[in-house]
Amino acid sequence: MPERMDRGKRRQLLKEDQAFIGRPFAMDKGSVRAVQANTRHLALMLLDTKLKHRASRAASFAAGILDATLAKKTEGAVACSKGCYYCCKTYVSVTIPEIFRFADALRGKAEKTARVIKAAADSAGIPQLERETRRVVCPILEDKACSEYAPRPLVCRAVLSKSLEACLRIFEDNSGEMVPFADNTTDIRGYVVIMMQAALRLSGLPHVHYEMNQALALALEDPDAEERWLAGDDLFAKVPVDGHDLARSALSSMTDMLVDNIHPTL
Ligand code: SF4
Repeated sequence: MPERMDRGKRRQLLKEDQAFIGRPFAMDKGSVRAVQANTRHLALMLLDTKLKHRASRAASFAAGILDATLAKKTEGAVACSKGCYYCCKTYVSVTIPEIFRFADALRGKAEKTARVIKAAADSAGIPQLERETRRVVCPILEDKACSEYAPRPLVCRAVLSKSLEACLRIFEDNSGEMVPFADNTTDIRGYVVIMMQAALRLSGLPHVHYEMNQALALALEDPDAEERWLAGDDLFAKVPVDGHDLARSALSSMTDMLVDNIHPTL
């Protein structure tokens, strides 16, 4: 690892970062600087031990920048609308900060919590690839809509399809097709996933994704789960890690490069 950047240069860099933090990022060469600035911001947030709920805050920040960029940079028509819920019965992959943010919104909601616990039991043991055909309806779905729209996971925010007909074939008939994602949305989500994973790595926290129902049920067991996890308690050791995180991919190589770039600047 290169040496830490000197204090004056770091201060200057943080000043320049302000132009990018929390703003929608470009989908061209300019995105690199924005991704660096927002990753540094997330990592510094996660490293700030004075912030009690810093993991949930990081998830909220990541959701904000994802929403802002999707709103500005998604191209072409999107078929999704309220009442269209067909994708809400598949494997949902989340980072732990997203889980804590979601769990906070669910505390005290007994019926929903009971549904999460049941869905976690129903999800356990089903191999990830089989979830496409053995569907477990999301416990958060109510009246054909997401009942916790604000804290929903990053992946739920970014699944924007071009075609209702294709989604019906995929999620109702198990046709095995790929969702025809609206233009730019896969890349936008990819950038935000990289930012979150790099920031978690830079702050020494677990950075893998987990199946939502099982991780959420565990987080709901203890109101102090976030504090314990931030202190190093591996609360999610029994939940299977998303298989995509176990394989090398273009995203993991980009995350490595981002970590190497940001580390000397913290
Ligand atoms: S969290 Fe909300 S958007 Fe995501 S799968 Fe569940 S109901 Fe659907």
